[in-house]
Amino acid sequence: MAVDATQPYDDQNVFAKILRGEIPNRTVYEDDFALAFHDINPQAPTHVLVIPKGAYVCWDDFSAKASEAEIAGFVRAVGKVARDLGLVAPGYRLLANTGTDSHQEVPHLHVHLFAGQPLGPMLVR
Ligand code: 5GP
Repeated sequence: MAVDATQPYDDQNVFAKILRGEIPNRTVYEDDFALAFHDINPQAPTHVLVIPKGAYVCWDDFSAKASEAEIAGFVRAVGKVARDLGLVAPGYRLLANTGTDSHQEVPHLHVHLFAGQPLGPMLVR
């Protein structure tokens, strides 16, 4: 079911469980601010999710409430993951679904990083 982006944080969401080590993941990168891991149902040859370690429902929540250090740390982590995976020259796409119209499913902020093939139009027409 799609997430209401204005709801309070639910610490039983699947990415909270991944952060606590209760559910396994295929980690690509981790630091004090972020965890990056492969999506369980990849939509491109490379499909990595990058999440902040803090408890934020979505981009709106994070951009409004996260500290400067958390925001800088998260943004730098996303860039580092793309660089470390060798995606900058061939190119990649970032996507952050927020709320019901975007079909956000997991109520913990995550950025999708897609790459590995020409990615087509930005939105279904
Ligand atoms: P959203 O629609 O919220 O932007 O995307 C949620 C993403 O999380 C989906 O691409 C889905 O495949 C992925 N996902 C859901 N549950 C799990 C899980 O347990 N492990 C991993 N690695 N990815 C998950």
